[in-house]
Amino acid sequence: MTNKKILLPRFLIKRYNSWKSTSYLRNKSKIEKLAKSGQKPKAMIVSCCDSRVNVASIFGAKEGDFFIHRNIANIIPSYKSLKTDHSTFAAIEYAVKVLKVPNFIVLGHTNCGGIKTGYSHYLKGPNKNYKFINSWLANLSAAYKNVPKTLSVKNQINFLEEENVRVSVYNLLEFPIVKKMVKNKKLSIYGLIYNISSGDIKSLKI
Ligand SMILES: [Zn+2]
Repeated sequence: MTNKKILLPRFLIKRYNSWKSTSYLRNKSKIEKLAKSGQKPKAMIVSCCDSRVNVASIFGAKEGDFFIHRNIANIIPSYKSLKTDHSTFAAIEYAVKVLKVPNFIVLGHTNCGGIKTGYSHYLKGPNKNYKFINSWLANLSAAYKNVPKTLSVKNQINFLEEENVRVSVYNLLEFPIVKKMVKNKKLSIYGLIYNISSGDIKSLKI
């Protein structure tokens, strides 16, 4: 392939060329083997789209390690709302049913813009500029209902960040295949909050 033909901003071409001549070369045989034999990831991770959550970097991921799905505010909607999000559900179905991942991580994070917008959505009503975001953040309703309203606004938002992870794990367990695999000890589920400033990870009780 001639890299000269790649139409991208210069900084991306530079980074790509650097990756191709270093990291790719170092792992070439493993990458080629994976392409041939297929993937067998060690975990599925559902994380936020936020650019500050560098999922692969946090867990030192190499090619083939993780099956990753990202959406605004790392939400797994209720299984009963099957008609509202095919993308997240399809990714979960493939990871669990086909790839049979042994671990599943819902990775929330601090300072989540999606959670802040969701909080304001329920407190003040939807922002009319956000047609699709409003529709997506409606999936936070169950978590929002559990937020103690006696807390300060800051603490309510922090609580919602964590409660969203707990509710997402609960929703994940509503999938019959997930329930079955957990019961048979073929799948372990974890709920985490990543602090985007300190880099610390908090494990939630679920
Ligand atoms: Zn976020």
